[in-house]
Amino acid sequence: MAFLIESSKYLMKNIFCSFLNPIKRNSAAEVVHTGVFSVRSVCYSATMDQIKAVLIDLSGTLHIEDTAIPGAQEALKRLQSSGLKTKFVTNTTKEPMRTLYDRLMKLGFNVKRSEIFTSLTAARGLVEQKQVRPLLLLEETAKEDFEGIGTDNPNAVVVGLSPTSFNYERMNEAFRLLLDGAPLIAIHKARYYKKADGLLYLGPGPFVSGLEYATDKKAEVVGKPEKTFFLEAIRDLGIDVENTVMIGDDARDDVGGAMKAGMKGILVKTGKYRAGDEKKITPEATALCDDFPAAVDYILSSLS
Ligand SMILES: [Mg+2]
Repeated sequence: MAFLIESSKYLMKNIFCSFLNPIKRNSAAEVVHTGVFSVRSVCYSATMDQIKAVLIDLSGTLHIEDTAIPGAQEALKRLQSSGLKTKFVTNTTKEPMRTLYDRLMKLGFNVKRSEIFTSLTAARGLVEQKQVRPLLLLEETAKEDFEGIGTDNPNAVVVGLSPTSFNYERMNEAFRLLLDGAPLIAIHKARYYKKADGLLYLGPGPFVSGLEYATDKKAEVVGKPEKTFFLEAIRDLGIDVENTVMIGDDARDDVGGAMKAGMKGILVKTGKYRAGDEKKITPEATALCDDFPAAVDYILSSLS
């Protein structure tokens, strides 16, 4: 019985997505009631038939901690076999590239290491470019991606999501360096994130803002939703921004950021998504889909 219910859910979702796509409504909201479940999706006017590359967020979109979003592995395979280029972009600052890659492998996602672009990588690039010695407010594991960078006698501050660093002593250390003229580099400024226990937790944003407030300085942000982050992510693909779509669970950082950079954006209702998030961004998301598999169906059915 459970199998039958799951199968009919999947079938109805796909029928629904295929049905919606060719119509290209303007800010139209649709509700389908099947008796078994109800799905609500919104499609906005957009040209999706010229898409050549897809940027995919990790946490909250492909998986939540060590659990994959149901059907995400199969959906990724469908996307990859369509010939579209894919890149995995993440603001996850607690974990180095190696951990992210290992998790994706363990969960059965077919991903190449070179296809992952993280905000830690972008931050390291900026530190090298500025030739500074950073105080790293990062978790020990994340420091792996800064291997070889000198950190003695620091003259810069790098802030990522680091629960163990966000205490009075370490924050004061950073505060004093900033007062002495050190630049403030924020890996990203996410307000909060969601863990597998279902609770929301403070992101690095409030702590970066605290340092900015105390020192009257502005942080240089390197991760999503910065335009340079999205441009860097597709640089080696040789594909234009207008031919790229971003799929993510964060309305502002994934979808809003990508769209400001000139890409299309699909918001998924998994991970940190909360009802009404799509209303927080202008322009509106290209599409709002239930989850990653539904977003993939939407993209593939849009191609000419
Ligand atoms: Mg996410």
